[in-house]
Amino acid sequence: MLIAGNWKMFKGPAETGEFCRALREADLGTVDVVVCPPYVSLAEAVTALATTEIGVAAQNVHWADDGAFTGEISAPMLRELGVYGTIVGHSERRQYFGETDDTVVRRINAALEHGLQVIACVGETEAEREAGETEAVLRRQVGAIRDGVAERDELVIAYEPVWAIGTGKTATPEIAQEAHAFVKTILDVPVLYGGSVKPDNAGALAAQPDVDGALVGGASLDLKSFATICREASHS
Ligand code: PEP
Repeated sequence: MLIAGNWKMFKGPAETGEFCRALREADLGTVDVVVCPPYVSLAEAVTALATTEIGVAAQNVHWADDGAFTGEISAPMLRELGVYGTIVGHSERRQYFGETDDTVVRRINAALEHGLQVIACVGETEAEREAGETEAVLRRQVGAIRDGVAERDELVIAYEPVWAIGTGKTATPEIAQEAHAFVKTILDVPVLYGGSVKPDNAGALAAQPDVDGALVGGASLDLKSFATICREASHS
């Protein structure tokens, strides 16, 4: 069971150091824990969490090792910092920054080749769910990853229905289970659930047989709520 906190564009280096030093002392139950701060705070998180089992991951990575790609960061650069993994293809990247199934696959391959663990995000929008297209969207997104990524040992999928991200609308445990089971028929890797995971729903979601953890956004920014989610998920 893996619980990953996606901090999005929150917490600069000073706040990250403070949070991570407190996280070291917190009761996080028995789950594997990863935090994903913004790029500028990664070094601080790596330092503050050194000698713990808590991993530090980035929120994105470029496919080239270096080059004329203004504003991008490469996998070797993340490795040099001591970062352990990265999120790829978050819906906010797909929605606002032109991320496509093709660029997602390129980023995943670069990350895996350089020894980073990858959390690759997939999920349907509200309009797609209402139109009955959830399975078609997952088949396309997960199928692209299956067809384009050969080495999958360090690959995890996060099923994040876009309508549940930052909206307070969580998928019911049944909806999450159904989607996770479907994803695994396409690609048999661990699947995290993401979308308004909170202390009061984490246990029921984590108890589903095909839910292998959670990618937590807003609720991972507060130490008490993140630690509670980790403990709740540990019970299932
Ligand atoms: C996310 O950003 O990956 C996410 C799931 O956000 P939230 O938990 O805030 O819905």
